[in-house]
Amino acid sequence: MTVEPGTITPDNRPVDVGAAVTKMEALLGGHIAAYLDACVHCGQCAQACHFHEATKDPRLTPALKLQPMTRVYRRSKAPFSGLRKALGLAPEVTEQDLRAWEPLIFDTCTMCARCTIVCPMAIDIASVVAATRQAFVAAGLGPPDLLEAAENARTRGSPLGLTEAKLADRVEWLADEHETEIPLDKPVAEVLLTVSSIEMMKYPDSVVAMAKLLNAGGVDWTLSSKGYEATNFGVLSGKADIAKLMVERIASAAESVGARIVVVPECGHAYGVLRWTGGNLLGRELPFEVMHITEFLAALKRQGKLRFTPYTDQAVTYHDPCQISRRGGATADARYLLDGFATDFREMTPTGNYNWCCGGGGGVQAMGRAADVRHEVFRIKMAQVEATGAPALVSACANCRLTMDESSAALGWDKELLSIVEMLADHIEGAPNPAE
Ligand code: SF4
Ligand code: SF4
Repeated sequence: MTVEPGTITPDNRPVDVGAAVTKMEALLGGHIAAYLDACVHCGQCAQACHFHEATKDPRLTPALKLQPMTRVYRRSKAPFSGLRKALGLAPEVTEQDLRAWEPLIFDTCTMCARCTIVCPMAIDIASVVAATRQAFVAAGLGPPDLLEAAENARTRGSPLGLTEAKLADRVEWLADEHETEIPLDKPVAEVLLTVSSIEMMKYPDSVVAMAKLLNAGGVDWTLSSKGYEATNFGVLSGKADIAKLMVERIASAAESVGARIVVVPECGHAYGVLRWTGGNLLGRELPFEVMHITEFLAALKRQGKLRFTPYTDQAVTYHDPCQISRRGGATADARYLLDGFATDFREMTPTGNYNWCCGGGGGVQAMGRAADVRHEVFRIKMAQVEATGAPALVSACANCRLTMDESSAALGWDKELLSIVEMLADHIEGAPNPAE
């Protein structure tokens, strides 16, 4: 299984091959080398990957995403690599290789980890892809719009230009418009709420919904202008310094208000990054607990602090964001929230930890050049939803929502796409009915 160099969307940027190889050598420690050694080339991962299944292109088999690291490993780090090199059995990485591999590493991997659950060797291809992206960025490669979003996060605070000043403006506007208290920069709070700039700029109602729910639950919470952006485009783009910076900002904000819990909003990768790799990126244990908003609301519901009137409008099904369910471990709480609330709830097949990705995770949503393949992938989701007969799809990730909104528009699909926090906020028991 090899990709023929030069067959997939090359471009004309200069490429520093040596920098890529040096970076891969540096990252080839422990678990990555073990994964490369472990692959038995069985090909079972192919049918688990939405890119492979949507296109039937064998070049998109997940195991092939191990190729760049494998090539460097065999030449410089693996047992007998010196002998292999001397015998001409360990070819160098070339510029042509890197250009050919780039779409495999960026455009066609959402880091969803569906391949890992079928792999007999449990190889976490997503983590190898994340490391390989760092090497491609070192070489001067990577989708320009994804890299720009990451730089925006560094220089302006967020990938979509949600600066501190814009955050303050929008919080004031939303609080006034919806007559809802949205605390910003309280000096002390038990809970720090973060937001995704996708929500704040494209789906602001979900920010209002979170505020209404936290207020109704009697939570002592705040947003902070020191650290508000939940997304981490440093991780998605392969820019490790930005990945660390984004976690540092949240940690600094949480520590300055004394927050015991940081709540991540409807954003899958933000949750996965902060909860499962935040301490590694920060270089110390996180000084707070990380909870996704669905986990936090489920806890409030369990404690009897939040109750909801039933949602009877229509049948709904639930899309599991990969980084919240399969990779995040928070699969059950969204269902706990929907249980007894959505009166006609229908699981799609497969669901939960086996659910198909929307096609826009791993930064793929931000890559304009990946739009066509993303829409093809979305046909899998459409078929899943159609099979339930439900006219509406609810989820808990603004990135999934944006991906699904764009693909629905591109493909002329007419199902309603809903946010779980917005549904819940509209049905808080004891709150005024929004329809009245
Ligand atoms: S992590 Fe997901 S998108 Fe990436 S290769 Fe595996 S199944 Fe495909
Ligand atoms: S399923 Fe696992 S072992 Fe088999 S080819 Fe894919 S990555 Fe390799």
